[in-house]
Amino acid sequence: MFCESCGNQLPDNAKFCTACGATTGRTQAAPAQPAYTPPPAPAQPVYNPPPQAQSAYNHASAQPSYAPMAALDAPLGVGQYIGMFFLLAVPILNIILLFKWAFGSSANLNKKNYARATLILAAIGLVFSILAGGFIAEIFEEIMYSFY
Ligand SMILES: [Zn+2]
Repeated sequence: MFCESCGNQLPDNAKFCTACGATTGRTQAAPAQPAYTPPPAPAQPVYNPPPQAQSAYNHASAQPSYAPMAALDAPLGVGQYIGMFFLLAVPILNIILLFKWAFGSSANLNKKNYARATLILAAIGLVFSILAGGFIAEIFEEIMYSFY
C-alpha cells in the first residue's frame, strides 16, 4: 500500500505513514460487510434434446448425399444451358468438358446425355470427314495424274 498524503510506500498493515505521519485509515477499516449477494437462483434448466432425438437429427443431417444424387436428373435451367454452350464454344476445353460430362459420375444426366450424343456425332462426323477427305484426295490425285 501507499500513503494517501505523500505517496510513500508502506507495509500493508501500517497504521501511520513512516514518512509524513498521516494515518492510513487501517485502524477503522473494519472487515467489510459482505455485500448482499442473492442466493444463487435455481439454474435454468438448459434444454437438452433427448439422445434419441439428437441421434435422429444427426442421422438426418448425415444423409445429404441423396440431395445431389436427386439433382443429377433434374432438368437443366436456361442459365445452365447458356453456361454449357458458352463453355462448349471454347476450343479444347469443350472436348475436355464433353468427355468429363459424358463419362464422369458427377455430371447432370441431361448434360451427360448431351455430351454423349455430341461425342457420338463428332465421332461419326470425324469418320465421315476422314472418308470424304480420302475420297476427295483420291479424286484430286486422279485429276492430277490425268494431266500427265
Ligand atoms: Zn505519508
